[in-house]
Amino acid sequence: MRRVAVIGGGISGIASAFYLRQRNIEVDLYESEERIGGRIGSERLLGRWLDFGGKNIGKNYLLFRDFVKECGLLDFEYFGFNTSQVINGRVVRINKEGAKLFNTLRFISLCGFDGIRKLYPHVRAILKDRSQGVLDSEYFNKLALEYDHVSLADYLKEPCLSHVVRPVTVRMNGAEPDECFPGNFGSNLALVIDSYEQLKNGMHGMLDAFQASSDNGSLRIFTGHRVTSVCRDPVGGIKIGYMHGGVTAIAVYDKVISALPAIRLSVLLDDILPEASLLLRQVRYYPVAVAIVKYHRDVFLKSQRAMVFDQSFPLSNAGAYGIHDLDLVRYTFSGRVSRSVISENSAPEEVIGLGEKIAGPYFSIRDNTRESFAYRYLSEGLCAYSPFHHRLLRDIDTKLESFSGFAATGDYRRGASMEACFRAGGECVDKLLRGAN
Ligand SMILES: Cc1cc2nc3c(=O)[nH]c(=O)nc-3n(C[C@H](O)[C@H](O)[C@H](O)COP(=O)(O)OP(=O)(O)OC[C@H]3O[C@@H](n4cnc5c(N)ncnc54)[C@H](O)[C@@H]3O)c2cc1C
Repeated sequence: MRRVAVIGGGISGIASAFYLRQRNIEVDLYESEERIGGRIGSERLLGRWLDFGGKNIGKNYLLFRDFVKECGLLDFEYFGFNTSQVINGRVVRINKEGAKLFNTLRFISLCGFDGIRKLYPHVRAILKDRSQGVLDSEYFNKLALEYDHVSLADYLKEPCLSHVVRPVTVRMNGAEPDECFPGNFGSNLALVIDSYEQLKNGMHGMLDAFQASSDNGSLRIFTGHRVTSVCRDPVGGIKIGYMHGGVTAIAVYDKVISALPAIRLSVLLDDILPEASLLLRQVRYYPVAVAIVKYHRDVFLKSQRAMVFDQSFPLSNAGAYGIHDLDLVRYTFSGRVSRSVISENSAPEEVIGLGEKIAGPYFSIRDNTRESFAYRYLSEGLCAYSPFHHRLLRDIDTKLESFSGFAATGDYRRGASMEACFRAGGECVDKLLRGAN
């Protein structure tokens, strides 16, 4: 087989390229930005590489960890699960580092009877078979058929909704519980019951190692190449049009994988597959703003490294960047109120000021000095999928069938975690190559 083109150099595209290379298939990876990584978003602050998006790696990220190992990186640092929230004026800490029984009892009280009754069977299903903890799994598709006519906010009651479910949906989907659906919650639950590490030197080392592996010619990475069209080539294969340095060009491949977010792929398919394009637009994306601020002194205590805020605030979470980075705060702004006060035109200093005002009463921020910061606003930052999402995926695939040699992966297939993107990337490669020689 000739080379396969992969469109999109985020973690989904990297996964697709990785699995194609494992099958000895040559790959051309097209990325519109000057760096690969997409929503991992690595950036330098005070001489150190930091990641704005995906950086926490679950103990159960088996596929992703295989890839990290292949990149020659083994240096993980404990990140844990350590957070807090204000309930009835009192700061309540939740972490997996304290006494196990105490934390379990605290978690049960946050869930309430209804929450435990509804969530426990789902947690048990994931613990029994980890492969169920993704989008479009047999177990959660059944749940979707029964309950996706209502939102998560109607499926679960208080106190579980405010204290457990909302902190998860605004963080992982950028959406409120009334904008999310029970059938998709398994992909979030699997993340809640995991515990986390991060790469000691950040994700950029992994991305650089992957980029370096492109030197041997079997993997070519074209950064700064924006794909502007895909269509069937009259002579055979798939023709892609791209833009590089202000110049347009075309290339023809036997097979092409889109590793773009659904909303980006819908734009590419507008003219050639309008029905597929319309279906892809039903996948919901929500904005997120992230600021990483370096302060002069420690902001957090080792025992309390993060806090989630309720629906009345634009700030959904403020947390220490790493277990040893108590002076480095990652502020995440997502959810409905955030959308009403923060836009792509907001001044970073003002957004950070907002975060400092909200988190200030609980941490050493007011009497501290801001030394440096970096800020990003992603208008399509987090994916909240759709109701009866597995049906939408089937419909999308049916429409894509007519475009032979073309397959699509991304965060809307198995879920947004980097592990889910790897799983979806592997499955997409399997599907594309089925029957190919
Ligand atoms: C704030 C935040 C925190 C997160 N934290 C975690 C975490 O701790 N752990 C975790 O597992 N996950 C986390 N995630 C989720 C995870 O980072 C994302 O789901 C994942 O990175 C998405 O990867 P992707 O490749 O599917 O999409 P993207 O990263 O969006 O990649 C798509 C790529 O395609 C490129 N592109 C777009 N259009 C074109 C075009 N026309 N031609 C060529 N290229 C194009 C884009 O530039 C981009 O690089 C987080 C996400 C966010 C936003």
